[in-house]
Amino acid sequence: DGQISHTFVIFGASGDLSRKKIYPTLWLLYRDDLLAKPIKFCGYARSKLTVENIEGNCRQYMKVQPNEETKYEEFWALNDYVIGSYDNSSGFELLNRQLTLMENKNRANRIFYLALPPSVFEDVTVNIKQNCMSASGWNRVIIEKPFGRDAASSQALSDHLAKLFHEKQIYRIDHYLGKEMVQNLMTIRFGNKILNTTWNRDNIASVLITFKEPFGTQGRGGYFDAFGIIRDVMQNHLLQILSLVAMEKPVSCLPDDIRDEKVKVLKCIKTLTLDDMVLGQYVGNPDGTTDDARNGYLDDPTVKNGSITPTYALGVLKINNERWQGVSFILRCGKALNERKAEVRIQYQDVPGDIFEGSTKRNELVIRVQPGEAMYLKVMTKSPGITFDIEETELDLTYAHRYKDSYLPDAYERLILDVFSGSQMHFVRSDELREAWRIFTPILHKIEQERIQPITYQYGSRGPKQADVKCEQNNFKYSGSYKWPGSKKN
Ligand code: NAP
Ligand code: NAP
Repeated sequence: DGQISHTFVIFGASGDLSRKKIYPTLWLLYRDDLLAKPIKFCGYARSKLTVENIEGNCRQYMKVQPNEETKYEEFWALNDYVIGSYDNSSGFELLNRQLTLMENKNRANRIFYLALPPSVFEDVTVNIKQNCMSASGWNRVIIEKPFGRDAASSQALSDHLAKLFHEKQIYRIDHYLGKEMVQNLMTIRFGNKILNTTWNRDNIASVLITFKEPFGTQGRGGYFDAFGIIRDVMQNHLLQILSLVAMEKPVSCLPDDIRDEKVKVLKCIKTLTLDDMVLGQYVGNPDGTTDDARNGYLDDPTVKNGSITPTYALGVLKINNERWQGVSFILRCGKALNERKAEVRIQYQDVPGDIFEGSTKRNELVIRVQPGEAMYLKVMTKSPGITFDIEETELDLTYAHRYKDSYLPDAYERLILDVFSGSQMHFVRSDELREAWRIFTPILHKIEQERIQPITYQYGSRGPKQADVKCEQNNFKYSGSYKWPGSKKN
């Protein structure tokens, strides 16, 4: 009955995401022989381009080694490009003819990647459904955030997609779910008796989930200004991490069993209020060494005058269930801070019945997502030598040391491969999305309607001081006494 060919269609092939992520990822997967064969790729956009132009746009992001040139040319020879608009079926009819031609009468599976602004999502999905579906194989659609901007608009998008496709065909990307240490959370928790049995309100004082970026809008804040850091990072990436940290053990590792547990834990979270939050917006640092550093958020000409959009946010979430009641889950994210970092910090409670004159510090399990994957557990030890003093040290798993020769694929490589293999484990289901927006929509509306002023913080700092106070009030203790050899701080 002939072979099955795969066709990968990129809408918005002329754009930024296509150039920087999608084509480079497809190339790497092709280079490493990870894609089913025969495989073809087809770009689609309005711009009058050729495959050669697309290759030129992508070249600097493709990471081609000198000995890979032949394979690289082979990759581009499998590519095609169709010019057409998004709101008119004629372009899609043309695309469908082209795809059929490329598939060479084989049975065909098709993947459609929407690397497009959300304003054209509805038209494009309708046109795909009407003109481009393969009748002889499966069809899968990949979409990128933003999935709406509040509960109502997100629901409208979900309803629209549900009319056209089955949930099984929809792959909503949250690229944090493609990161090594985020994927590792399940194993860390459920593969280790020692962690699993202490993973609850009887032992854990607080959980801190952090995303920090060391740069500002770099003069391109227009898109960001309409969304803000809560929508851009907290409501999606950080909440996804939270659900993996806090969910109950799924009945199996099957995607829907896992996603069922993620939805369940999200349902236990009350909507956020202003009391649960600290909002910030950066101002320039007059001593900064770059334009980006000297300019504050409001100095960006693409940002609305007087914008109150937060560039920093801290939110304290409480999970009302038997495992977590009373434990604060603190989500923090911000731009223009002192470092690039994404991590999860599980802080254990003080040791009861102290016999060390108050010198024990809390155990802390740190799971560093980036940069430099690592997991370390801060523990107390007797200071080595003749003394009986105690000190803080760590049990340390640093990937760069322990797994020197392992290749850690980029999030997009894992996720696109998952789409080929049909695994939705690391994609967001519509009911997860609905719960996420339920938690955040009231506070987002309040901030906008009441024009809640963010607290200013300086570019390159750790963010507003009030954030540290909020952490302390929520049972996260920072002692400042921990020393890591080789750390710049010491
Ligand atoms: P983009 O470069 O602004 O747009 C992609 C393509 O869409 C453009 O090349 C253009 O192609 C077409 N387009 C742009 N504006 C349009 C408009 N107003 N009406 C109709 N077509 C328009 O976008 P992107 O940065 O690649 O992002 C694509 C999607 O991925 C978005 O949903 C974005 O939120 C999401 N995303 C992007 C990134 C990233 O790193 N860039 C990261 C995460 C998520 P033609 O003019 O040639 O048709
Ligand atoms: P730490 O020095 O005890 O700091 C814990 C965290 O508390 C800080 O990262 C800081 O993060 C936060 N914090 C809260 N209040 C603070 C305040 N008032 N002042 C300063 N920071 C405050 O422990 P650590 O950060 O886990 O470790 C110290 C260094 O050693 C880090 O650079 C770490 O990467 C390194 N280390 C590396 C490895 C490894 O590579 N395997 C293992 C162990 C340690 P925010 O700025 O985000 O708030």
